[in-house]
Amino acid sequence: MSLTRRLLLGSTVVIVVLVTAIVTIAGSRLRSRLRAETVADLTRSARTVALLWQPGRDADSLADAAGAALGRRVTLVGRDGIVRGDSKFPQAALRRLENHATRPEVVAAMDSGVGVAYRQSASAGDDEMYVAVRHPLGYVRVAIGLDSLNDVVAGAQRDVIAAGALALLGAFLLAALFARSVSRPVIELRNVARAVADGDLTRRPSLNAPGEIGDLSAAVHRMTEQLAGRLAALQAEEALMHATIDALDEGIVVVNGRYQVVRLNSSARRLLAVPDAVPFAADRLPPGRTLRETLRAAAAGESPDPAEMDLDGRILALVGRPLPNGGAVLALQDLTARRRLETVRREFVANASHELKTPLTVVSGFAETLVDPDLSRDDRQRFAAMIRANAQRMQRIVDDLLDLSRYESGSWKPEPRRVDIRQTATDVAGSLDRAARAKGLALSREIPDDAAFVRADAVALRQILSNLMENAVRYTNAGSVTLFASREEGGVRVGVSDTGIGIAPEHLGRIFERFYRVDAARSREEGGTGLGLAIVKHLAEAHGGSVRAESVPGQGSTISVLFPDEPGGRAG
Ligand code: ADP
Repeated sequence: MSLTRRLLLGSTVVIVVLVTAIVTIAGSRLRSRLRAETVADLTRSARTVALLWQPGRDADSLADAAGAALGRRVTLVGRDGIVRGDSKFPQAALRRLENHATRPEVVAAMDSGVGVAYRQSASAGDDEMYVAVRHPLGYVRVAIGLDSLNDVVAGAQRDVIAAGALALLGAFLLAALFARSVSRPVIELRNVARAVADGDLTRRPSLNAPGEIGDLSAAVHRMTEQLAGRLAALQAEEALMHATIDALDEGIVVVNGRYQVVRLNSSARRLLAVPDAVPFAADRLPPGRTLRETLRAAAAGESPDPAEMDLDGRILALVGRPLPNGGAVLALQDLTARRRLETVRREFVANASHELKTPLTVVSGFAETLVDPDLSRDDRQRFAAMIRANAQRMQRIVDDLLDLSRYESGSWKPEPRRVDIRQTATDVAGSLDRAARAKGLALSREIPDDAAFVRADAVALRQILSNLMENAVRYTNAGSVTLFASREEGGVRVGVSDTGIGIAPEHLGRIFERFYRVDAARSREEGGTGLGLAIVKHLAEAHGGSVRAESVPGQGSTISVLFPDEPGGRAG
């Protein structure tokens, strides 16, 4: 029930109870006081009439006169009980009246001098109050109808009820006014509190309610402001934490005490390939004993040792730690690239050692043999030539290794400037002229005017063209080797094409790897180190360019480098 209704009902009940009590109590007290006063009044009247009743006086006329003067019924009764006069009856009717000697008031007056009685009049027929006083000649009795007495009481009661009705009306008005000023702000407060509890922190109670309700409104207002402020701060903090965790390169997985994943940053999603929205059961994470055990141990409050696991070809490092209030956090790190790098390094050292080992064995073997004094001059010269050839081979390997390590160390930076490709081609072809001629190969060039200059590091361009030309001559038995340049969208392509043995498709993608060779024996025989194209690729990329290899086995190969134009202008 609403506050207003309860207020109205409450005041109605109070007023009705009060009015009923007043009507009942005051009515009965009024009645008894009125009766007492009337008895006293009637006694006084009877005594006054008694003074006038003298022997010899006509009793009936006295009764009539006194009755008219007092406005009461006056009866004079003889000592024998016979009515001598009555203001209500004419003289002639008196004789028909009963003997009054047995009337209770007369009987009482006989004993104590004054008698009082209430009853229905036997002679007059209505409810009357009788007071009789003793007199030497008999009894003087004065009576009054009780109806007038009851009328007074009823009138008083009506007045009280009317006043009560007025009070009720007033109370209704007051209650309505009170309800307006109290229950309205209370209802508003209730609605605001409900809205706030439901998460709508924009709602505020108005601050114009009076008294304590006003104080309450102000307090709720302040509380809501503080709540909104704290919530905003919390949300900002949470957003910052979210962004921070999401920006981490490490994967982060958080499970709660019920073993449910409640947070998963984007790195963890990527590493574990989990598309599900949080929260979800931790059992839905990718299977794997290491992951399960680490997570279970951490969730059980332990701090397990860091572990590694293999997931779809990736190597992941796992660190699990318990959370203070139950649950665990799991950090994931992708070790794939690092492990691959370590493998590449290991293989590189093994390859380099292997490359150097053969010539070194040859050199030391022939050197030992040379010590023999019985060796013929021809053999001595032959062995010395072998030693020189292998020493030169080692020299080339070491030179290439040094170049490669210099370029890869990061300390070397190309110094691009406008380089004349034709000039560089002439220089490179000059140094290979003899080898080409020995194989009967024609060296040619195709360098159009719009691709005659390139913006590159001169030494690097020379090394690139030299390595490509050496390879072309090395792997071509007959035909021609062409150094070409062409203008392309975004840069100048410089390369060498030959009519050589070509490269099978399965090798084409790998020839730029260090020490990768299609035919290791032929490469060594021809003086190759297996590092030439790795150097070319590195130099090209240092210029922001790229390498490309195309080949038809048995028909020839084209290997080229694209040098991009400088932003905002064309080289040459
Ligand atoms: P190498 O010193 O052995 O030539 P490179 O790194 O220069 O090493 O080349 C790697 C491998 O690529 C070579 O061993 C060879 O098998 C292949 N190759 C490179 N250039 C050519 C070419 N022009 N024709 C055929 N094969 C080639």
